[in-house]
Amino acid sequence: MHDTIKRYKEIISAIEQRLKGQNIDNRSKVIAVSKTFKLEKILPLIDYGHLDFGENKVQEAIEKWSEIKTKKKDIQLHLIGKLQSNKAKFAVKIFDYIHSLDSEKLAKKISEEQSKQNKNIKLFIQVNIGNEDQKSGISINQINDFYQFCNQLNLNIIGLMCIPPFDQNPEGYFKEMQSLKEKLNLKELSMGMSSDYLQAVDYSSTYLRIGSSIFGKRDQ
Ligand SMILES: *Cc1c(COP(=O)(O)O)cnc(C)c1O
Repeated sequence: MHDTIKRYKEIISAIEQRLKGQNIDNRSKVIAVSKTFKLEKILPLIDYGHLDFGENKVQEAIEKWSEIKTKKKDIQLHLIGKLQSNKAKFAVKIFDYIHSLDSEKLAKKISEEQSKQNKNIKLFIQVNIGNEDQKSGISINQINDFYQFCNQLNLNIIGLMCIPPFDQNPEGYFKEMQSLKEKLNLKELSMGMSSDYLQAVDYSSTYLRIGSSIFGKRDQ
């Protein structure tokens, strides 16, 4: 068996194990984060039948996924990295989900592009859960207003996304995300990466963004 598939299967069974222990009914989906890896490295997982893939750059995603997405229409592509509003046009075209909605300017731009392209992609509001200067995301005390703003634009907000502060125990942040999500009555949570996805499962994350544990270490 291919190494990638072997690691992938181990992750899936670890998640199932965790869900069993916790009696959580929400299914946690895996987004295989394929940024920096060439398509040939990703193909075994596509052939195995996995459908959700994550990229953090629009241009890289266009180059890598345009062709295969027209052949395999079930593939769901997730933008998990920062999106500049001048690239919203291209992002709306190639992605099925955007996890990094983080400003009113971007919200307006996505809304405009969706009208032009007649698309309605699924969106997560990125939350700056650790209140870090260097991180993108809406601050906790502005989430409510921002969510209302997005609703007025008819954006399809399905949930909240976060990247907790590096090198800290993420559980407190995951817990806070879970409660924010419930307050807004949203369905989905995008949180958990290679190092902490099982903890994210404990706090009912529905989209785990896992890269290096599946594909191996990334070159810089
Ligand atoms: C790269 C990346 C991931 C995956 O990280 P791993 O540690 O390789 O699992 C998840 N989320 C975001 C936003 C990323 O940029």
